[in-house]
Amino acid sequence: MGGGISEPYARCPMSLSGLLAAAALFGASPALAETFFVKDQTEYRDALKQLEPGDTVVLADGAWRDFEIVFQGTGEEGAPISLTAETPGKVIISGQSNLRLAGEFLKVSGLVFKDGFTPTSEVISFRVDADNVANNSRVTQVVIDNYNQPERQEVDFWVMMYGKNNRFDHNHIAGKRNKGVTMAVRLNTEQSQENYHRIDHNYFGPRQILGSNGGETLRIGTSHYSLTDSFTVVENNYFDRADGELEIISNKSGNNVFRNNTFYQSRGTLTMRHGNNNLVEGNVFFGNGADHTGGIRVINAGQTIRNNYMEGLKGTRFGGALVVMNGVPNSPINRYHQVKDAKITNNSLINSDNIQLAAGSDAERSAVPIDSEFSQNLIFHDDGRDVFTVYDDVSGVAFAKNLISPMAPPDFAEGFRSEAIALERAQNGLLYPESDVGAGALRDLDVTTKEETGVAWYPKLEPIIAFGSGETIKVSAEPNALFDAVGQANAGDTLVLKSGDYVVSKFLKIKKPLTIKGKGKVNITFERSALFEILDGGSLRLTGVSISGRDAPDNAGNAVIRTSPYSMLENYRLEIVDVHFSDMDVNHSFNVISAAKGTFADSILIKDSSFRDVTGAVLKLDKESDDYGIYNAEYLTISDSIFENVQGALVDFYRGGTDESTFGPHFKLTGSTLTNVGGGKRNKSKAAIHLHGVQVTNISGNVIKNSEPILINHTVGEPKSRIVNNTFINTPLPNNFELNSGLEPTAVIENNEVKTR
Ligand code: CA
Repeated sequence: MGGGISEPYARCPMSLSGLLAAAALFGASPALAETFFVKDQTEYRDALKQLEPGDTVVLADGAWRDFEIVFQGTGEEGAPISLTAETPGKVIISGQSNLRLAGEFLKVSGLVFKDGFTPTSEVISFRVDADNVANNSRVTQVVIDNYNQPERQEVDFWVMMYGKNNRFDHNHIAGKRNKGVTMAVRLNTEQSQENYHRIDHNYFGPRQILGSNGGETLRIGTSHYSLTDSFTVVENNYFDRADGELEIISNKSGNNVFRNNTFYQSRGTLTMRHGNNNLVEGNVFFGNGADHTGGIRVINAGQTIRNNYMEGLKGTRFGGALVVMNGVPNSPINRYHQVKDAKITNNSLINSDNIQLAAGSDAERSAVPIDSEFSQNLIFHDDGRDVFTVYDDVSGVAFAKNLISPMAPPDFAEGFRSEAIALERAQNGLLYPESDVGAGALRDLDVTTKEETGVAWYPKLEPIIAFGSGETIKVSAEPNALFDAVGQANAGDTLVLKSGDYVVSKFLKIKKPLTIKGKGKVNITFERSALFEILDGGSLRLTGVSISGRDAPDNAGNAVIRTSPYSMLENYRLEIVDVHFSDMDVNHSFNVISAAKGTFADSILIKDSSFRDVTGAVLKLDKESDDYGIYNAEYLTISDSIFENVQGALVDFYRGGTDESTFGPHFKLTGSTLTNVGGGKRNKSKAAIHLHGVQVTNISGNVIKNSEPILINHTVGEPKSRIVNNTFINTPLPNNFELNSGLEPTAVIENNEVKTR
């Protein structure tokens, strides 16, 4: 434990009369504020028993392992009981630790939770147990950094607010990788309802794609208590690439305010999922053209959406820039209540692709928006894109004084004028028309910057180390040279392999982002059941090499690249460019790339590569077979590659279940040739390409010869599958089945050439 103040903790030995005199002098009780400097958990617990209003407990600098902090006491207004760090940022709460608060007027600051995970279901909880909650208390300048359960599907929550009148501000919350909402406000008992909490100036740092439901960053309420008012204010927070799932914020209670928050390149939307009379104003969404970046989704009654700014949002469907939903007549509490009395005014929607009205209209969701207003909004798109999709009757919405540019006014309503306008970027970083047009976000919109949130003493790091960003290291074909180089390389480094025959006798364990690049003629064989094993924290870019499986063991189930057999918290990236694979046929079921359960790729990219004589599949991405809506990879993109004599499928890609909380998986195959793919007797799907539950599929410009058909099973949502401009030679056309909806197949299969020869 660090040094610093070495005074033992003890209440000042002042006499009672002295204390009373002092109290009289300052004209108030409590008497004297004491500081208890504690160096271990026993000292902390002893100090806790003595705390009075105005007192402070200071934790000594250093690592506090396995510390379940119970911070319980009764402070007073203006004289809280405080828990803080000797030096902010230098008190590290690690191992199996957590913090629970209960009582009145408590304040916690300066702690860092990292290198461990909570043994309970919450890291910071504003209650000690169901009967003892915290009120009028504040947690400020606390860091929770990558404090994850080791199993990515094990649920926990980093911050859970209970009680009333609490504040959570200027905290740094980044790197949640396991399942469970990052932060939630609970309304589950009367003592936590109408709570008037304030959540402000927090840095909600990157949250990677979870690949299942349960990746929300903030949730207020639950459907069960959603008709209860919360009166929570969420303002001036910064959401930095909060990509967990399709809800960045899930509002599920009434009378909350979401004001002046910035959403930076975050996939998903601020969703008014349940609860009425909420105010959403002055929020700024920068999509930067990234996939699935969305804005605000409106459901329920009495929602006001005004003076928000959306730029560069590419989200579609329920993930659009602005979505007004249809409701369910007499909706059960957990379905969709009708939109009523919505006021959507003075919002700017700039270069954002989709505004959806009466969205979700179907036999069940037939209650159209009513008594609502949509006025003085500014809609601008560089491409002149028709951004509106109207799914049902919107005569219950009064459209007025909206400006649309440069597109023509939409035909579904009056209340839009079209004008050619030019935009310029103002001091606050937002685009405004050069002259006042009486529509769109206000000029004085207060944009919350990253620097204004979190703490100054903890870095807001980039979540990903790019390939090729480190050193270049030359490697020769001598025995063990490649193994040693992989072990010694730092994140971002590039290993450049000289010409030669590399025989790899041990697993190459990839624990950080590395590039392996052949220069000249590089041939690699391997003697274990896999060449590469991608472990937690690892990512691989492989380029300019040839890999043969001929030296692999004569056993079934080899792979060239496989992921950790254990759950991986960190998503990985895999890029294969100009790599030539052959002789993967020493035994059956030899796969090229095989993902294990509990592992998730942000992206797998294959380009300019060839795969010949493979007894298994080229890609096995089908290990999440529980039908929980979990899957193995977000993007699989293949271009300009050759697949020849592959007994399994090019890919087995599986996303089961009927949950609708994910955007992916995505599959794209272009400019490639498949010859004799999928015909092996062990290929269970009997398909050349097997896609189950993939959400976005694009297969175009390929030649597929003497192969089994492509099989596409749609399971949930509105999957978009396009198979166009391909040539099928001695290969049946693709099969598409809708497994759960009972709809006619929706895949677009057209302009393909079919030949027999
Ligand atoms: Ca969700």
